[in-house]
Amino acid sequence: MKIIKTFKDTENWFETTEEELVAKTQDIYPNPMQVLKDVGIIQSMWAIWKLEERDECNFCGSTDLIYNQSLLDSSCQECGEWQEGELLTKTK
Ligand SMILES: [Zn+2]
Repeated sequence: MKIIKTFKDTENWFETTEEELVAKTQDIYPNPMQVLKDVGIIQSMWAIWKLEERDECNFCGSTDLIYNQSLLDSSCQECGEWQEGELLTKTK
């Protein structure tokens, strides 16, 4: 899972960490990470954080992933690996 952030005055997305996000938004949201996971985006007065869609294979780096709705996981068309069911384990 990758979190990206930009400040609102100049849109310039960069990668950040869960710790940083929580530190900056815990005054606004009781559980920022849950909001981010549910909504996919979270913002403060000055910045926006987004969950970057998984678009690369964890194993070979290919971007040729096919999402399987019923399994809630993506399989790589390059190496055939499933992306470890991350969505399955992290979603209640
Ligand atoms: Zn792969």
